[in-house]
Amino acid sequence: MGPDDIGDREFYPRVVLGEYFAAQFWMLVKQGVAAGHSIEVKASHRILDIKLNEQDIALTFQKRSGGKEGAASFDHVVMATGHDWPEDTEISPGYFSSPWPAAAIKRIGAVAVGVLGTSLSGIDAVVSVATSHGMFLREGTGTLRFEPHAEAEAFRLTMMSRKGLLPEADFYCPIPYVPLAICTEDAIQCLILEKPDRLLDEVFELFKDELVHADPEYAAGVGLAFATIEDVAERYFRARQEADPFVWAARNLAEAKHNKANRITVAWRYAILRMHEVIAVAVPHFNADDLKRFHKHFKTVFVDDYATVPHESVERLLALHRDERLDVVALGDDYEITRQPVESGAVVKTASGEMSFAAFIDATGQHALSASDLPFPSLRKADALKEARTKTGDIDGDQSFRRTGGIDIDDDFRPRVDPGISNRLYCVSVPFLLHKLPFVQGITSAHEMGTKVASAIISSLGDDTIPSGLVHASEKASPTEIEAPSDTVA
Ligand SMILES: Cc1cc2nc3c(=O)[nH]c(=O)nc-3n(C[C@H](O)[C@H](O)[C@H](O)COP(=O)(O)OP(=O)(O)OC[C@H]3O[C@@H](n4cnc5c(N)ncnc54)[C@H](O)[C@@H]3O)c2cc1C
Repeated sequence: MGPDDIGDREFYPRVVLGEYFAAQFWMLVKQGVAAGHSIEVKASHRILDIKLNEQDIALTFQKRSGGKEGAASFDHVVMATGHDWPEDTEISPGYFSSPWPAAAIKRIGAVAVGVLGTSLSGIDAVVSVATSHGMFLREGTGTLRFEPHAEAEAFRLTMMSRKGLLPEADFYCPIPYVPLAICTEDAIQCLILEKPDRLLDEVFELFKDELVHADPEYAAGVGLAFATIEDVAERYFRARQEADPFVWAARNLAEAKHNKANRITVAWRYAILRMHEVIAVAVPHFNADDLKRFHKHFKTVFVDDYATVPHESVERLLALHRDERLDVVALGDDYEITRQPVESGAVVKTASGEMSFAAFIDATGQHALSASDLPFPSLRKADALKEARTKTGDIDGDQSFRRTGGIDIDDDFRPRVDPGISNRLYCVSVPFLLHKLPFVQGITSAHEMGTKVASAIISSLGDDTIPSGLVHASEKASPTEIEAPSDTVA
């Protein structure tokens, strides 16, 4: 692959992306040092605790290799701990609580493997296990084929979820985005001010109007005029749910490839994609009931629309299915998963029967976390950081609020703390933000949050002061040694 093959519409292997981001990081460090900043990167150090004091923020840390704990204090601290994956995933024999780190599930033998979750994380799990029992080969005709290893005869995979739906293939659309016609950010901002008590329903009307405007045929097909928040997802998924998942996936892939080659945009997909970013602006303003309704019924439409997968991932699923290695099962709402206490794996009971798996992977992805889940004991203490507040309604003209989850942060991602202690901690750790910012899981969001936090720190220091005490939590070993003159990290 040469530089000309690199494009903003392409997908790259994660190791390649990782190399790219690491190179960018070290370039920034060098630029910072050259500009006179003091920078120290403490790679392979685990932060054990973060304590907010009156004037500073104290960190306790330990080298990954062990040894005695160290301590340091900073003016500003950015908590950017990312997704929350356990270190030991095999929590009982043959039962893995997460597909990452992938090295653990690559040890799974050629057995019947159950994968809970049919979305991106589920595909990751399937591909990781499959590539340790065979390889994907591109035939002369262009079709991808799975070639199992000789000893992999008993290797089978079953992906399962409530609906039993696979994600769709990445679709072509104009970038940068063409502006929306009706569900615009201005319209949403007006609703936030003017209709705070029925914000979700008003936003939903804008959503419907935009979709009708963009693609009247699609809107009529799903009966959008009659849709409610509670049944819109059912309408959106209905046709897919009635089809065989692999037949649907093959047809959808062919359409996506054709559209990509011919630069054809599917109007309804593009409208929903653009709307998720605009509607996200309203979410923190929903009252408690609406926030619950949004998470339970409406959010899934947007997540399904933007969480499409590289074409090669769909091809791999189809190849595994053709080789009779992979099935997808819809569990429905009523199912039970029991870990095997003596043998390995798990048993899944549904209304239609029982399935046994010698190995089982929970690949349901990152779940939202709240203040009480923080991995830092001092921040976890009662009243250190609080859950986000959500309006519950008007009581005699006074607004009442309830703490509903996540972490209560201000517009600059600073957790709101009691007076008298430092408010210079910034939380951009994804799981703690999902409650109010449900779509922040992505590199573009990380970039936007980073820019906002950096601006907040710089403006709090004044223009002519060098920012001090910004710490980036990273465990990766550094490819370069940077000698830093002090303990300050800029
Ligand atoms: C499988 C997978 C696929 C994804 N695919 C995409 C994609 O295609 N496109 C996209 O835009 N986004 C994707 N994402 C999301 C993307 O990876 C995240 O949005 C992004 O990495 C967030 O960046 P971050 O710096 O906040 O966190 P991370 O990149 O997760 O970095 C957090 C760092 O903090 C370290 N850390 C955590 N706790 C501590 C501690 N106590 N002490 C010291 N260090 C600590 C971690 O080891 C890690 O190095 C994907 C995520 C996953 C898991």
